[in-house]
Amino acid sequence: MPLDASASAALLDPLVAATDSAAESSGLRLRDSFGRAITDLRISVTDRCNYKCVYCRSSDEGALYTELPIADYLRMVRLLVSLGIEKVRLTGGEPLLRSGLVEMVAELAQMRIAYHPDGTHLAAGESGHPLDIALTTNGHLLESLAAPLAAAGLSRVTVSMDAVDPEIFARITRVPRSYERVLAGVRAAQAAGLGPVKVNCVLLRGFNDTQIEPFAEFSRREGVVVRFIEFMPLEEGRTWKPETVVTMDQIVARLDAWRPSCGIPAGLRELPPRSASETAKRFTFADGVGEIGIIAPVSRPFCGHCSRVRITSDGGLRTCLFSQSDHDLYGEMRRGGTDQALASYIWRVVMRKEARHHIGEPGFEKPSRNMVHIGG
Ligand code: SAM
Repeated sequence: MPLDASASAALLDPLVAATDSAAESSGLRLRDSFGRAITDLRISVTDRCNYKCVYCRSSDEGALYTELPIADYLRMVRLLVSLGIEKVRLTGGEPLLRSGLVEMVAELAQMRIAYHPDGTHLAAGESGHPLDIALTTNGHLLESLAAPLAAAGLSRVTVSMDAVDPEIFARITRVPRSYERVLAGVRAAQAAGLGPVKVNCVLLRGFNDTQIEPFAEFSRREGVVVRFIEFMPLEEGRTWKPETVVTMDQIVARLDAWRPSCGIPAGLRELPPRSASETAKRFTFADGVGEIGIIAPVSRPFCGHCSRVRITSDGGLRTCLFSQSDHDLYGEMRRGGTDQALASYIWRVVMRKEARHHIGEPGFEKPSRNMVHIGG
């Protein structure tokens, strides 16, 4: 007797063998077994990258996984939106390398969220808000793409920059003159209406931690939100050590003592959180100019508020950056899974979302993939 898609999933993927049909048939939005609503999707559209950032990629390894047709990613997103996803972040690898990205954004912009804020489904005929569509990019190709992406319906952009000193920047990315390209991309995104652009910086002690104060000036001068992210053990080269991490407390202490060049008094002012699940602690300076966010997954994990799932470039569903495996959603699709069977599969995977990561603990195991192959 042929197996239907859910039965084959159970055989191929023991983690999803059991069902929680009560949750699945409740008509409420997607939740995990800890009651966390799943509202954010990060989707990697390629694991190719045009940078070789020293803390992310070892020098030679290129793409490891296949890319799917854009239409297949869109089917997965549509399904997940029908289950409760409201924010979609496009990432990679480097997403701007992917052809068809602008058209993908235009399709995403047509989708509407399916649930009320209280978690109940919209009534038939009721139309939800558009999705929040974000992009994480290294910015190298952003100068020419910012305006078309904004016109297609992109809501916001985050640009990764690990230095504002051009020489340090090129040493990190291993691409000459990369700083100038990325700065032009940031400015084009601001001009295209995608501002305030968020700029993400991963600090490594002894390497680019001289950049903390220059980034604060950069935030004030360029009108961007700078966010420092603690370094996590997700790199290809296995170089992570706790001593390399510059922690939230250390960054706050440095910025609190810093006096901006315009001569206002030193001192950071904390900004109120915009939601309970906000991952960044936010600060500004005495005159309210500039914004610094600090994201501290290592020293202050926020897993209790995690609302994310991820789709890898080859169509794997991941429930945590640190998962030991991903779940072959694309395989289920290819085997002819109906939307209903795929929704059921997604529910079963999400019910097994990990409680938290274990960075820095004695039993910590490296995840099954590195950041560049997951989608950061
Ligand atoms: N290429 C795009 C970019 O550069 O933004 C998207 C993919 S990149 C993997 C996404 C983000 O992950 C970047 O901001 C990068 O700095 C961050 N990242 C990579 N490895 C990391 C690590 N081990 N710990 C923390 N963040 C990391």
